[in-house]
Amino acid sequence: MSKYVYFFGSGKAEGRADMKDLLGGKGANLAEMTNIGLPVPAGFTITTEVCTYYYGHDHSYPPELKAEVADAMRRTEAAMGAKFGDPKNPLLVSCRSGARVSMPGMMDTVLNIGLNESTLRGLIDKTGNERFAWDSYRRFVQMYGDVVLGLKPQSKNEIDPFEQIMEELKHSKGVKLDTELTTDDLKELVRRFKKAVKERTGKDFPEDAYDQMWGAIGAVFGSWMNDRAIVYRRQYGIPHDWGTAANICSMVFGNMGDDSCTGVAFTRDPATGEKVFYGEYLINAQGEDVVAGIRTPKKIAELQKDMPPVYKQLDEIRNILEKHYRDVQDIEFTVQKGKLWMLQTRNGKRTGFAAVRFAVDMVQEGLIKKEEALSASRIPPDDLNQLLQPLFDPEAKRRAIAAGQLLAKGINAGPGAATGRIKFHAEDAEAWVHKHGRGNPDARVILVRRETSPEDIRGMQAADGILTAFGGASSHAALVSRQMGKVCIVGCGALNIDYAKGTVAVADKVLRDGDWISIDGFTGEVLAGQVATKPSEVVQVLIDKTLKPDQSRVYQQFAQLMKWADEARKLRVRTNADKPKEAADAVAFGAEGIGLCRTEHMFFEGNRIDAMREMILATNVEARKKALEKLLPYQRGDFEGIFKAMQGRPVTIRTLDPPLHEFLPHAADQQRELSAKIGVPVDVIARRVQELHEANPMLGHRGCRLGIVYPEITEMQCRAIFEAACNVQKAGTKVEPEIMIPLVGFLPELKAQAKIVHDVAKEVFAAKRVTVPYLVGTMIELPRACVVADQIAQEAQFFSFGTNDLTQTTLGMSRDDYGSFIRYYMEHDIVSRDPFQTIDADGVGGLMRMGVEKGRSTRSDLKVGICGEHGGDPDTVKFCHKIGLNYVSCSPFRVPIARLAAVQAALAK
Ligand code: PEP
Ligand code: MG
Repeated sequence: MSKYVYFFGSGKAEGRADMKDLLGGKGANLAEMTNIGLPVPAGFTITTEVCTYYYGHDHSYPPELKAEVADAMRRTEAAMGAKFGDPKNPLLVSCRSGARVSMPGMMDTVLNIGLNESTLRGLIDKTGNERFAWDSYRRFVQMYGDVVLGLKPQSKNEIDPFEQIMEELKHSKGVKLDTELTTDDLKELVRRFKKAVKERTGKDFPEDAYDQMWGAIGAVFGSWMNDRAIVYRRQYGIPHDWGTAANICSMVFGNMGDDSCTGVAFTRDPATGEKVFYGEYLINAQGEDVVAGIRTPKKIAELQKDMPPVYKQLDEIRNILEKHYRDVQDIEFTVQKGKLWMLQTRNGKRTGFAAVRFAVDMVQEGLIKKEEALSASRIPPDDLNQLLQPLFDPEAKRRAIAAGQLLAKGINAGPGAATGRIKFHAEDAEAWVHKHGRGNPDARVILVRRETSPEDIRGMQAADGILTAFGGASSHAALVSRQMGKVCIVGCGALNIDYAKGTVAVADKVLRDGDWISIDGFTGEVLAGQVATKPSEVVQVLIDKTLKPDQSRVYQQFAQLMKWADEARKLRVRTNADKPKEAADAVAFGAEGIGLCRTEHMFFEGNRIDAMREMILATNVEARKKALEKLLPYQRGDFEGIFKAMQGRPVTIRTLDPPLHEFLPHAADQQRELSAKIGVPVDVIARRVQELHEANPMLGHRGCRLGIVYPEITEMQCRAIFEAACNVQKAGTKVEPEIMIPLVGFLPELKAQAKIVHDVAKEVFAAKRVTVPYLVGTMIELPRACVVADQIAQEAQFFSFGTNDLTQTTLGMSRDDYGSFIRYYMEHDIVSRDPFQTIDADGVGGLMRMGVEKGRSTRSDLKVGICGEHGGDPDTVKFCHKIGLNYVSCSPFRVPIARLAAVQAALAK
């Protein structure tokens, strides 16, 4: 029989930290903290299995649940010395959601459950504080009404009825702050709140404590399937069938006076990674006040002065927790009349900067091993992106400040520099980016808000940066931005935001929706206008060489981590590059070779395109060869540059791949211009363009089909490669060319092309009187190539999966057109990921697996890599490791990410 309820309290708990699947993260950690002797208010966790049952059984509970809950409640009452629903000595509880992984703010919480007209009296007697009791009651009615009874507005245009009543009362009393309301005002509020409930729901507000609790439990389970939770899970790849647990915890109060407070903290700085106690608290407040970011809280260090013994105890707990969990913790605590209570602990969300610093520091402190430091749960590979992201150019920023553009300073909550257009609403931010297209400099947006809430998640995702007027470093805006790796400033109190007018004012300056604004997430500075950015410290050290390694701590820690990664990974990492500079940058980022050099890009530079066009327009072999002669020296020069940049590392060069029409001008005026330039009549050009037109050029005369029909093209390219290789080798640099034939589907295609390669090599080596080691291999980008990989391997000395084409040909989805529907597919759970970014493991991946196995059945030492865009995607890298590839190849800036993903794959059990 299943056990559905797990108790914790009085120093002993039935759960443990490793029971997250069943108890959710919050429940498992409350149990763990109880077991290690920390002060946790007693309570119990209703398991995620109950949530699953609830959805599988028409929103009902297992029959045994009621009795288990009643039993756990009795034990909670005994631990806390109070009774749930008792008018004299009432116990109040909260009901809080908690899934296996944290989904900040996505699901519901209800506090102060158990309050009614009679327990209220008991609370007043117990605390001797009538105002506090009434304030708790009005908060409860409001929260319960919003969350459980469904009075919360569903869109930004609706108004929360409770907020409205509150505003009306404050207005009529002539007060601004909630704290200025008297006890009588609070009583009046409760009366009006209850009236609103009756009007809207037709029912009285529930009085019975158990009815209240079961209502809250239903709301928590119900919130697992609310829209924003679904969107969040989709974004982070969390399965919908995990379910949430519901935690019933005894209430403790941070709003019982000036000897009470509530706060949140991180055991180290989650933005920079520095080893300092980092957090904030509010005196005389409840937790919701901190997270909602309505009042700007005090820094944790000030607690040392406000409540010295509490600070000392909390700082000790900070150390205990870090040692116990061996990771940075994000904690919630409350002090009730001088006594400290721990309400939550979990691994803290962190920026990429902090993730790297925590990991490296903790190895050096002896807290964790290198292997652990490298794990994906500590450093998701994409986080390294943040270390490579731009900063403001200090000179440009200095000038902007001198010109009076500095508007204000807030709390630096997410590092990096961002410039964008002001948008005040999440929907507007999303629409703007969608309209202009991500990557377009004009599409950049800074979401500027008083505070953010979970509804804003998509807009935050769309924005380059987030700026809020309220809230601290643990507010929703800060937490979520950090997780997304967005630049973020919060608590910028000088901003006066008027949503209705669409303006933000600072002193006498007014900026409007659509104006440019710049935010520095390292310093918290907000500037009007655009400010130029400059490369990150890592890029300055490695690429620009404008900073020395010992001048940058960020670089040193990055380099240390990468060194550990390289020691333990099996998969090699190469780069896709077709220019010497790109190749050199990639080597600086750790590339171990070139996995794909697309030669066609070389034909577009300078005057080369004219020779290329002449070749395409030629009507016979002789004329074609003459034009190719002109291209030869260009290609040879390019390859020499690349071989030199790669200093002996392997270089995979692909022969011409795109359909020829891509090189010809299609507009009439451009055709006339070309005619004048190369002396071919304009009607001949137009006719040739017509001839080359294809209904589906991706499946037309391209890839090796070009080299088969026009062998002289392959011949020229090979001559350029081998002449360059001989020249560079003669000059003292080792070379290792690998000639790769694209889009092969039939063994005879590869044989015909390979013969050309070998013949030209022999000829060039004889003429140059040297030989250079080289390989001939093929791209695997067609399903047929995977199916007959054993045949193809008779000729191919290596395979490289061209997963861009392999995905489009396997799925029958055009890589240029799938964008029009793929978002819809992902939002409707037809596919969980974009198959052109992360490999479709079952389909395309299945073919890859077959290709590797069949290829190696013919040639056991067959070298296999991947050079499609997927090669820089961490999950694909892990898949490639699993199926036994030798290397992945990706764009230069993805190389560090692939190195980390590769070691994680190697260390994964
Ligand atoms: C591929 O198809 O995956 C590939 C790398 O080639 P291209 O993108 O140039 O078609
Ligand atoms: Mg391709």
